[in-house]
Amino acid sequence: MEIVQSITKGSGPIPILDSGIPVSQYCPINLSKDNRELNSINVSDAKECQDYVDVVLKRNGSRVAYGGYLEKRNLYGDSERFKGQEPRDIHLGMDFWCEAGTQVLAPLDGAVHSFANNSDFGNYGPTVILRHQINGNSLYTLYGHLSLESLEGLYMGKVIEKGESFAFLGTPDINVGYAPHLHFQLVLDLDNYQGDYPGVCSEKDLIYFRKNCPDPNLLLGYPF
Ligand SMILES: [Zn+2]
Repeated sequence: MEIVQSITKGSGPIPILDSGIPVSQYCPINLSKDNRELNSINVSDAKECQDYVDVVLKRNGSRVAYGGYLEKRNLYGDSERFKGQEPRDIHLGMDFWCEAGTQVLAPLDGAVHSFANNSDFGNYGPTVILRHQINGNSLYTLYGHLSLESLEGLYMGKVIEKGESFAFLGTPDINVGYAPHLHFQLVLDLDNYQGDYPGVCSEKDLIYFRKNCPDPNLLLGYPF
């Protein structure tokens, strides 16, 4: 956790999407089970989820809706991926809901660690993991629900500079089955994963995962 805070103290919001969208056009969104506005909405349906995102964006006069770290969600119930004895419904990243095609910017200097198209329904679709070196330690950042084009021309070790546009948000057919958004997650110990890492966990695994995947907003510094 200190590793993340040490990078960012006082640096203000770091753009993670198209820098042409000012931070004043970002607003928070609550997709947790506790949000009563979602009672009549099936948020695991991409269209219904997008309609709700649009309502929130319109209400706030915004272009990007964001949030979701450690949110307990109903978003994963329909997918075979998440069926099991213990529901994996606690979200470990921060989501940025915005139009497909929006540029994704690197928040730190780094290099490509790995990438993959995790194309089974309910997974991330095209995914990139960057590795950053901070005071001799590695920090990984994961970007999920990208476009297929985002993976073209990548190779392990490719240098990506802070602020560089290196990927784009994917459409629901590619991302796989979600309204367009970026899933952004910090990972301290990647545990041999390549191009993938769990983005949700169960209550019983939360102590480990919340420590290994610190709040992305400690790095990004958005106001909510
Ligand atoms: Zn997410």
